[in-house]
Amino acid sequence: MTVARTLFEFDDSYARELPSLSVPWTAAPTPAPELLVLNEGLAAELGVDTAALREPSGVSLLVGHGLPEGVTPVAQAYAGHQFGGYMPRLGDGRALLLGEVTDVAGRRRDVHLKGSGRTPFARGGDGKAAVGPMLREYLIGEAMHGLGIPTTRGLSVVATGERVQREWGPLPGAVLCRVAASHLRVGTFQYAAHLPDTTGGDQDVLRALADHAIARHHPDAGSYLELYRRVVDAQAELVARWMLVGFVHGVMNTDNTTISGETIDYGPCAFLDAYDPATVFSSIDHRGRYAYGNQPAIAQWNLARLGETLLPLIDDNGEAAVEAATAVLSTFADSYQRHWAEGMAAKLGLPTPDPRLAEDLLELMHAQRVDFTTFFRALSAERARSLFAEPEPFDAWAARRAALLPADGAETAAAMDRVNPVYIPRNHHVEEALTRATAGDPAPFHRLVDVVSTPFEERPGLEDYAAPPQTGCAPHITYCGT
Ligand code: AMP
Ligand code: MG
Repeated sequence: MTVARTLFEFDDSYARELPSLSVPWTAAPTPAPELLVLNEGLAAELGVDTAALREPSGVSLLVGHGLPEGVTPVAQAYAGHQFGGYMPRLGDGRALLLGEVTDVAGRRRDVHLKGSGRTPFARGGDGKAAVGPMLREYLIGEAMHGLGIPTTRGLSVVATGERVQREWGPLPGAVLCRVAASHLRVGTFQYAAHLPDTTGGDQDVLRALADHAIARHHPDAGSYLELYRRVVDAQAELVARWMLVGFVHGVMNTDNTTISGETIDYGPCAFLDAYDPATVFSSIDHRGRYAYGNQPAIAQWNLARLGETLLPLIDDNGEAAVEAATAVLSTFADSYQRHWAEGMAAKLGLPTPDPRLAEDLLELMHAQRVDFTTFFRALSAERARSLFAEPEPFDAWAARRAALLPADGAETAAAMDRVNPVYIPRNHHVEEALTRATAGDPAPFHRLVDVVSTPFEERPGLEDYAAPPQTGCAPHITYCGT
């Protein structure tokens, strides 16, 4: 297929360098593919021609068919701790890595499908995905990208023309094409570390995986311990940035924790409305393990699991390896705290971080159930007081802040507005957009993508997207089995 050739030039360094960490596989047939959304900005970054992608042969490629000769997709193997319990074999049950492309900036990026049929890792699953959850992943990824937070991004969602069976009935099926810095996960390292060692304790696969990760993400890391330090730091910054926008990932299993530091796998995730650290959106997270306020601690727990896998590479002496890895892991708290405190200072317009002032504010917001996103824009516009049913404690807090503010109020307000979004994908809008799109009306979805892609710039006519949900709305829950 000559058109496909001009679209992507795939490399396969992962499959080539780590053959025991994937299985060559083919995407399932799709009876009537229909392009629902194409990310033109991302396509431009990848240097592909969007008009060609919209052609039937381009759409085919986006569901894994008509690939250039010699290109073999693979299902990647990984393990993972899911809600704290270890699963030795997860892997891409319904996903495929098509290959890697070099984007126009020279970065290597994975092009990956989700919902492309059962693979040898499918266990009981059907290998499929429904339109709603794939559009959700696309939408939230674009919102995160707009917010400047590292994330995988959707290139396209293609409806398959097939129905997929879910607990609550048949749904239209879809395939997401996703672009990522890589799909290396903590769970990939767990899988490699648990492979039966055929080379007498040499840990050859694990070492090859770590070398691949260094080459790809941290080329100047001179040791495996340094690789670990970089991943710890990237995750500390990432989770701090989630916290600063009120994002709840929902399924922070080790298989959903990347080595690149990108956010991955948007399932039952959502943004806070009223501030409450106990907020959970996932219907299966009964104990609140992945609640908003637990995310930093869970990230550190996941990174401890990564450290365990790296021990044999860090030092032949087991005790020395544990000591060195523990020292690196212990930097997480400081790194997280620094990123968070600096981010809060920017949100509050302060020249230097004041963690105590920030914590006290969150306590106030929690006590009076103030909308997290609304508050910070209201603060720069000097309208925040009205958000508090009992404003006196806020007044006392505001006086403490006022004493720390720089002299130039207008400049401070403008700087705050560059880091505090007006628009986030509010749960009630997301649900409505996905419901309408699933029923065949994509307009609200496209509009919402447009709104959240430029989150910092207030635009007339979009007031409804900035407003919190009406009080009395049912609490938002996202169901799994996506
Ligand atoms: P996730 O919760 O999406 O991160 O997926 C966790 C694991 O379940 C991964 O190994 C997925 O490949 C697998 N999985 C999720 N849904 C399906 C499905 N419908 N069919 C096959 N595997 C699935
Ligand atoms: Mg996952």
